[in-house]
Amino acid sequence: MKESEIIRTLFGTTPPPEDDCYFLAPNRLVTTDSLSEGTHFLHQWSSPQILAKKLVEVNVSDIIASGGKPKECFLNLGLSPLSRKKEWIRGFSKELRKSLDQYEMKLAGGDTFSSPATQLALTVVGTVDKPWLRSGGKFGDYLYLTGSIGLSQLGYQTLKKKSKKKVYKEAVERHLSPKSRYAILDHLKQFKIHACMDVTDGLIQDSERLALTSQGKLKIQIESIPTHPLALKELGLDLCLGSGEELELLFLSPEILPTKLAGVPVTMIGKLDKGKPGVTFQKEGKHYLPKTRGFLHFSEEE
Ligand SMILES: [Mg+2]
Repeated sequence: MKESEIIRTLFGTTPPPEDDCYFLAPNRLVTTDSLSEGTHFLHQWSSPQILAKKLVEVNVSDIIASGGKPKECFLNLGLSPLSRKKEWIRGFSKELRKSLDQYEMKLAGGDTFSSPATQLALTVVGTVDKPWLRSGGKFGDYLYLTGSIGLSQLGYQTLKKKSKKKVYKEAVERHLSPKSRYAILDHLKQFKIHACMDVTDGLIQDSERLALTSQGKLKIQIESIPTHPLALKELGLDLCLGSGEELELLFLSPEILPTKLAGVPVTMIGKLDKGKPGVTFQKEGKHYLPKTRGFLHFSEEE
């Protein structure tokens, strides 16, 4: 089954959630994310320290994509014979505490169990004053993207040795240790943000989700998209557009924003207009159809 079908089946007649977080109360939000050995990581690529950091960052990213700040978290650990070892647990715990301290988060509980492969799941609760929903976009809003995209995909390809040339250290680091855009949050709050999400499945799919939930037609200018030059050169445009786990923020605002906030580039890449909800890419004034969709959680055949 496709992921969308699985989710529809799970939720039955209740519409599935569409935001990066669920709102427990108007000012209280929660999210959860997992890292599973074999699906999201391999021990040969990721040390326990790298995994602890990534587990925190991917969850924090969802909280800030909803305009919130992380506060408490719950950790579920499925430990394999390898990850049950003292060195692994110590390395993971030390880095986890460091990552949580950095965001002033508290580990409030969780669960540990034995598992044939390492399974890491973190649930983060946060607070928010003015939530950003994906559905808040209004016609005429500008579409913005923080940072650049493509490097995570290059890192993944390098690890899989698909990129024949040299090992791109910067790209591998971006893939294994992505960072949330926490530093930009308070700066962005100075502006009117109508809708926001983080880029986790690639710009193609994520911009489509934003367009569908905000019920508008997103027009994205290919020439404006900040693709990482190295990734663009090595992978080509389409793979950069599908690059997932970038943790960049994709958001809609009626305002003209500065091109940099807290040292982070902020680029206007398109506009939300009235029309059939969806996304279209424009290159040199013509429609551009990327050949790939980007990251899929389940292949179509399953
Ligand atoms: Mg997200």
